[in-house]
Amino acid sequence: LLQDPSLTDAERREYIDRILEGTGRLSTLVSNILMLSKLDNGALPAKRDTFRLDEQIRQALLLLEPRWSEKRLELDVELDSVQYTGVEALCMQLWTNLIGNAVKFSPKGGTVRVLLRDRDARIVVTVADEGEGMSSETQRHIFEKFYQGDTSHATEGNGLGLALVKRALEMMDCTVAVQSAPGEGTTFAVTIPAEEREMT
Ligand code: ADP
Repeated sequence: LLQDPSLTDAERREYIDRILEGTGRLSTLVSNILMLSKLDNGALPAKRDTFRLDEQIRQALLLLEPRWSEKRLELDVELDSVQYTGVEALCMQLWTNLIGNAVKFSPKGGTVRVLLRDRDARIVVTVADEGEGMSSETQRHIFEKFYQGDTSHATEGNGLGLALVKRALEMMDCTVAVQSAPGEGTTFAVTIPAEEREMT
């Protein structure tokens, strides 16, 4: 279509936008599949680095900026300064998937809250949205591969994000808790045990 010389500028822009959107989705799908199959094969990247968790979360927020600014979301971000030793790419997947979902399931103009707390010898990261929430039946399945809930924007995802989050958390000895109800938003809380991080 783009090769058609009679296209108007507006049409050309629209087609390019669609292509960009499609390639963006494909690239997320491919990177989720690759990372998940690596984890399933026990091929956890061995290299551990010491890095700042708060900086990494800021980076994830920045990466997702086009999506949250398009929806005019309010971001409420409070991050303690935390040093952590682990597999950086794996950890980044957690934040992009959890915050990406919070953005995706938020209503326009809603608030997404991201907290990083370093308390009582453990680190807790909370990602909360004011979206449509989930029934307890949906919550039972969200960590399964390819599962998408009833209210899911199926065309915007592939049902692999949370399966990946779960596997990554298992490998990192971390836990995740979900708090949600239909119409009442969703909160994911990731707890990282003290021995998994390096004291600052
Ligand atoms: P998807 O690609 O569909 O987002 P995920 O594995 O990331 O796949 O999530 C699985 C399902 O969990 C989603 O389809 C949706 O039904 C539900 N879900 C995940 N995060 C949220 C959220 N923040 N609010 C409401 N539902 C959610």
